[in-house]
Amino acid sequence: MTYPITNIAIPAILEIKSGVIYELENILKKHQFVNVAILFDEFSYENYAAILKGTFKSIKLDTIKMKANVNLSELIEHAFLLERYDAVIAMGGGTVIDYGKYIAFSRRVPYISIPTSASNDGFASSNCSLIVNDKKTTVPAKVPFGIIVDIDIIQQVPDHFLLAGVGDLLSNITALYDWEYEEQNGVSQVNHFAAMLSKKAVNSFVRTPMTDIHHPIFIKELVSSLTMGGIATVISGNSAPISGSEHLISHALDHVSANPSMHGIQVGIATYIMANVQEHRAERIAKVFTRTRFFDYIKDLQLDKNDYVQAIKMGPSIKPKRYTYLHDEKYREKALSFIDKDPLLKTLWK
Ligand SMILES: [Zn+2]
Repeated sequence: MTYPITNIAIPAILEIKSGVIYELENILKKHQFVNVAILFDEFSYENYAAILKGTFKSIKLDTIKMKANVNLSELIEHAFLLERYDAVIAMGGGTVIDYGKYIAFSRRVPYISIPTSASNDGFASSNCSLIVNDKKTTVPAKVPFGIIVDIDIIQQVPDHFLLAGVGDLLSNITALYDWEYEEQNGVSQVNHFAAMLSKKAVNSFVRTPMTDIHHPIFIKELVSSLTMGGIATVISGNSAPISGSEHLISHALDHVSANPSMHGIQVGIATYIMANVQEHRAERIAKVFTRTRFFDYIKDLQLDKNDYVQAIKMGPSIKPKRYTYLHDEKYREKALSFIDKDPLLKTLWK
């Protein structure tokens, strides 16, 4: 009899600290890279391209500014027009991180993430969200070879980026509960190591009782936990450890809402809803959202309750092969009635 061997790729570089971008050349040297490209978005190009270039002495570095709204076929074309690099790095928000991940994946070279916000777990995950036929679609890629996060940079982002990161991280709680439910219904099997990693990541974060979301310790905790969640998806080979019914609601909102919010913000609200439907750790989630002022930020957004009603109904059709709480009509009804009656949500809608 042969036993399956689990052999998973994990990042070889993991640096989460203040001022680390100034050490980039040394980090790359340690891994024998001599010719690299860094992709930037508009914002990161303006703010960091020249600074980074100035710190490089011996490694050849090309800085490339990517435009927004590149679709999959344009991205592949772009990937093959690039010269051969030892590594492709992307520095910036979620979009350019996904571009870099996909370009490196299609050229079979190591990819290094340098996120400038911590608004979701994409910088550490193996998937990317790209535009295919005008629709945002999750496309498989590879886990980053390196993750480099400069806490000084993340500290400067506006509150809502960090709050989105908090929302995306807390969704591990509902996603894991959905995964167990799915297994109980014979639809999939929980990978216990991946589940443990995802659970430990979010628990470590919720037990950091801080109110200052720009505090370096808070940011380090948030970023490390998002990273662990991303790695959990590599172990399980799917997004289940960090993405369940709450993510389906967010994906559905991207379709039905005239004005979708940031991924992690939508996911956070949906996490609060689904935790109440699952009757599992809902109070803990509400406490974290109150303490970090996540709910206060939502109030300013003037969200449309009707978007959420539609998204709950549409959610299961986004991933028909899964079986989360939202796929069960009984719990879908419960979710609809919850958003209708919950006193806290009442204060959030426009
Ligand atoms: Zn997410």
